[in-house]
Amino acid sequence: MTRWRYAGATDTGLVRQSNQDAIYVDDRLAMVADGMGGHAAGEVASAIAIDLIRDGFEANPTVEGLYHAINAANLAVLDNARDIPDHFGMGTTVIVVGLTRDGEGVTSPTLFHVGDSRAYQLRDGALRQLSDDHSVAEEWVRMGRLTPEEAAVHPRRHQLTRGVGVEDTIAIDVLSLHAEPGDRILLCSDGLSNELDDDTLARLASAPFTLDEAVAQLVESARQAGGRDNISAVLMEFDEVNVASVPIKRTVTSDAPAAAPVAKAATAPSRRRRRLTWRVWAAFLVLAAVIGGFFVVVHWYAYSSYYLADDAGYIAVYQGQPSGVLWYKPAKITDTPYRVNQLRAADRQALAATISEPSLLAALHWADYIHNQFCQYHSCKTAPTTTTTVHATTSTVRGTTTTVKRG
Ligand code: MG
Repeated sequence: MTRWRYAGATDTGLVRQSNQDAIYVDDRLAMVADGMGGHAAGEVASAIAIDLIRDGFEANPTVEGLYHAINAANLAVLDNARDIPDHFGMGTTVIVVGLTRDGEGVTSPTLFHVGDSRAYQLRDGALRQLSDDHSVAEEWVRMGRLTPEEAAVHPRRHQLTRGVGVEDTIAIDVLSLHAEPGDRILLCSDGLSNELDDDTLARLASAPFTLDEAVAQLVESARQAGGRDNISAVLMEFDEVNVASVPIKRTVTSDAPAAAPVAKAATAPSRRRRRLTWRVWAAFLVLAAVIGGFFVVVHWYAYSSYYLADDAGYIAVYQGQPSGVLWYKPAKITDTPYRVNQLRAADRQALAATISEPSLLAALHWADYIHNQFCQYHSCKTAPTTTTTVHATTSTVRGTTTTVKRG
């Protein structure tokens, strides 16, 4: 059995005329909804969402029940906005943690999230954000287009990419929470998280403050920091925790509701989506094959030949292209016992310009040949006999051991 204690507060702030946030918390469900829309429509949206999610979870306290409850709230807000002209364009965020029951009756905390209201986990005074903001600026951070610092002051940081009651379909982030006794979860609207930095949130939301004290201090601190938006905070502390039997971390997108009674109208979009899905997969596979093929060809070309070069006065054998190919650099495979100054002038020039060979054996044979060409007419003092082991430095030759004797 998972149990938590809880506290919550919501406040209009110092600038707004009304409070469009709504909160709910009991011993197994906690929610914050931040409504948006003119003519008090934001209040309507957040209230509808809270009511329907609470009712849906009461009727079915499972992951699926909570998911369907949020979908029902989405459609209810949307219908209300379509029916009442003053409510046009309204919507709300929701961030919900429910103690959901699995098939074996075990309850564990599950987070559901749409919008930019946030969930944090506090453990031993350290704060960790559990939810990703569904805002334009934060999406750009995840895409690498903005740094977190740029996003914090970006003009589109408050523009939501997802909301409840905005479209027929809704994408919901669902996350199983791993909690331990003593952990706290903070749910809040952006009126709190925009006014207080993480260090302040962590300090005020942690023990030794009681939950009621912590919530009161969070709201009051946000007011003192400016209170430019409605401020909401819900705080839970776990006394006992079960581990979820099936951990979940995914974004679930609802199906569009059946809009027309005509069968064709309902089936046609489904077929189009299926065709589109197959085309996307086919395009992905072709692209992956092309990219994979490119890397195979480049690697093969980069290490497809050998060459002789001067290494500290001795002829050495390298594998690869002398100037490298992209990030593939040539690798020295072995030394030879042949001195560069015991080569004919023409062979020394050729060596300086790189002597390429198609195989390691051909390279060694050619080194032997040009050495012997010089020594036919000159007295060659041979180096003491030593053994040089081939450096297995590339994947192409890894595992091979070729020896060449000096002399
Ligand atoms: Mg807000």
